[in-house]
Order: sequence, then C-alpha cells, then structure tokens
Amino acid sequence: MQQPDHTADVATILIPADRLQAKVAELGAVLSRDYAGRDLTLVSVLKGALPFMADLMRAMSIPVQIDLMEVSSYGGTATETSGLVRILKDLSSSIEGKDVLIVEDIIDTGLTLNYLLRYLRGKNPASLRICALLDKPARRLVDIEIDYRGFTIPDQFVVGYGLDYGEFYRNLPFIGVLKPEVYGAG
Ligand code: 5GP
Repeated sequence: MQQPDHTADVATILIPADRLQAKVAELGAVLSRDYAGRDLTLVSVLKGALPFMADLMRAMSIPVQIDLMEVSSYGGTATETSGLVRILKDLSSSIEGKDVLIVEDIIDTGLTLNYLLRYLRGKNPASLRICALLDKPARRLVDIEIDYRGFTIPDQFVVGYGLDYGEFYRNLPFIGVLKPEVYGAG
C-alpha cells in the first residue's frame, strides 16, 4: 500500500469529531453513574479502541483502573475478520472479583468479542459488560448484548478515531469512509 493521503482518500465523514466527543461525554456520564461505588476496570482492546478508551476514561468522574489487551484474528483480509482470535497481549493484572467493562471500537460480526467474553468470563470478574463505540449490526454472526453503545452504523467499512485500513488512518479525528479506489488498491 502506498503512503495514504488522509484528506484526499476520505469520501464521506460519517461521524464528525464533535459528535464523537459529545457521545463520549454522554457515555462517560452514564458510566460514572452506573458504576458509582464499584470496583471498575476498563479493559480495552488494542489498537482500534485506543482513542475511544483514552477519551472515555477522562469523561468519567469515578475512580477506575484500566488494562489493555491486544488480539488479532488469524487469516482474514484487511476488511474482513476470520473469527479465529489470537491473544497478542494479555491482561497485566487479575480481574477476579472486579467489575469489568470491555471498551471496544466496533462490533461487526461479533466473533472477536464473543471470544473475548468467554476468555474474560473464565477469569471470574464480579461483572462483565460491553461498551462499544460503533455497532454494525448488519453483519452480526453471533448474538451479543451490547450494554453501552455509541452509534449504530450502516454496513460500510469505516476508518478513523482508532480504526485503520492497512494500519493507517487511525489518527483521523472523525469516523469516515474511504474512496472505493483506496480499498481496491489494498
Ligand atoms: P468482528 O469480530 O466483530 O467482526 O470485528 C471486530 C474487529 O474487526 C474490530 O475490532 C475491528 O478491528 C475490525 N473491524 C470491523 N469492522 C470494521 C470497520 O468497518 N473498519 C475497520 N477499520 N475495522 C473494522
């Protein structure tokens, strides 16, 4: 893939930066209320959820701890998940007896999260819930209950605010769709 031209490659801005920030503030306020007085650990999944996690934790007014995991799917392509998940980075601390909130960038087929849920449940947290910035229900293969949701989006491959195409575009401050010829060239 050639060096991308961030401005020229974007066809449509689906969710502008100010709407993202307003939603994060709203979610932070709801979570601060729901988890008041609890022992909350936010578990984020690298790399895509990094900006969301960083903004969400600062939108919360209660004490929280954070931990990070990194997973990758075996096989698949740049725009499709295969469903087989490999843990590249595991949790640093025990979550036994803690209230855990998984902070995810996007739920597409749900296969990645389904795997993570089973994995984390095995570590005996007191509770386990999901906060996803984006929900793409059109392609869901497994039924997943999303406790906190930012936006429901149509069946389009999106980039920005953590989400990549070929590891680029993660630093765009908005969620957008690239021009078809950019994906075609990948
Ligand atoms: P799932 O396992 O739910 O199909 O996919 C989860 C992962 O696939 C996400 O965490 C993300 O890394 C990737 N993914 C799914 N849909 C998109 C998309 O529209 N854009 C980008 N950049 N990644 C996506």
